[in-house]
Amino acid sequence: MNGRFTDLCALKNCNAIVTGGSRGIGRAAALSLASLGANVVITSSQSDLEAKEVAKEIEALGVKSATFLCDVSEPSSVRDMFYQVKRQWGSIDILVNNAGIAEVTRAEDMTLEQWKRVIDVNLTGTFLCCQAAGREMIEQGKGGSIINVGSICASIAVKPDHHCHYDAAKGGVVMLTKTLAAEWAKHNIRVNVVSPGYVKTKMTESEQHRPIWSELTALGRMGEPEEIGSMIAFLATKHAGFMTGSNIVIDGGYTTIK
Ligand code: NAP
Repeated sequence: MNGRFTDLCALKNCNAIVTGGSRGIGRAAALSLASLGANVVITSSQSDLEAKEVAKEIEALGVKSATFLCDVSEPSSVRDMFYQVKRQWGSIDILVNNAGIAEVTRAEDMTLEQWKRVIDVNLTGTFLCCQAAGREMIEQGKGGSIINVGSICASIAVKPDHHCHYDAAKGGVVMLTKTLAAEWAKHNIRVNVVSPGYVKTKMTESEQHRPIWSELTALGRMGEPEEIGSMIAFLATKHAGFMTGSNIVIDGGYTTIK
């Protein structure tokens, strides 16, 4: 591999899709990818106006951008989005499966609908997008990079929250990542997962919980979306060419021990 470590054209002419790119970690990942030269499609299920603002920021970096409304838990919506991107942009080189939802409910009070919704968006949605991207990348025959967004909740039951559906979905995302990495290595499709600790986004806007999450984090603060987005972009580059099936934890030293 040639090139400096800080090659600002590392992703030139690559086309990336970031699900849930309208805000938070997805927005930061999209801007990091664009700053390395990638063209970036932003998807969201409702917040198209926010997504369009992100698209403008991306275009200001000198690359292409587009937005699509797509509910990742709906197979027809995912199929349609991938079809449109392929038709308009010609190829798909990078997928960031970032779209996700969280809610706090004790297991004993959780309805089946609540369980299914969180599993459908966070786990099934990740699978559906991986499958659609994997099919394209296999057909294109030039490899690709898929980065899934997991969570520390995949491996530890965090305090003070209760969300067993979210934790189970994120645990599934880690194992889905490892299995797809093994299946698609022969096509040079790398599949990795980034597992953040607590990051300042709309998902974690609870003013009541933020001090507790900060205290449980060794660095004494929550993460910034950009501190996750930059790792996602790194994983898409050739600098991470020997990484697949990896689970990268970025949690500021989160611990449940006090
Ligand atoms: P966020 O600010 O709430 O952003 C979530 C994004 O996902 C939005 O763009 C949202 O847009 C989109 N989305 C939600 N449901 C969707 C659906 N059904 N189909 C398509 N898009 C959908 O949350 P965030 O904190 O940036 O989270 C991003 C990812 O990081 C999630 O997977 C989350 O689980 C993970 N994560 C976050 C933290 C944290 O501390 N923030 C920690 C660990 C992991 P619409 O609302 O318009 O659909």
